[in-house]
Amino acid sequence: MTGAVTQCVFCDIIAGRIPAQLVHDDEQVVVFKDIHPKARVHLLVVPRVHVPSLDELEERHDALVAHMMRLLPVLARKQGLATGFRTVINTGAGGGQEIAHLHIHLLGGAPLPGF
Ligand code: 5GP
Ligand code: ZN
Repeated sequence: MTGAVTQCVFCDIIAGRIPAQLVHDDEQVVVFKDIHPKARVHLLVVPRVHVPSLDELEERHDALVAHMMRLLPVLARKQGLATGFRTVINTGAGGGQEIAHLHIHLLGGAPLPGF
């Protein structure tokens, strides 16, 4: 399987099979720049484990979820987002999710419109 491209583009990025601009990685998550940024800073916080969406999260993922949440403000600070940031999680077709591997969008660096 070495070098094989999977059905999941984010698993392929995590495995280093396709390139991405990494800004952080640790034992639980990989963080890279969105290929089509919607703000000056647009990062994707992606768990190493393939969980398709929020809908498939289970109790065994609780530590991972906490880690992702607590990492967000740390990343934002490192990106210079001193006045705040936006986080988005799209879930399923009805939520506009395009990549079926759980991820949190971290956006900022420009005045973002109200929601
Ligand atoms: P979703 O709509 O699933 O919440 O968001 C998927 C995001 O992944 C989109 O913002 C899209 O621009 C980004 N994306 C899709 N393919 C790639 C890729 O190959 N590399 C990177 N860095 N981002 C990607
Ligand atoms: Zn995946």
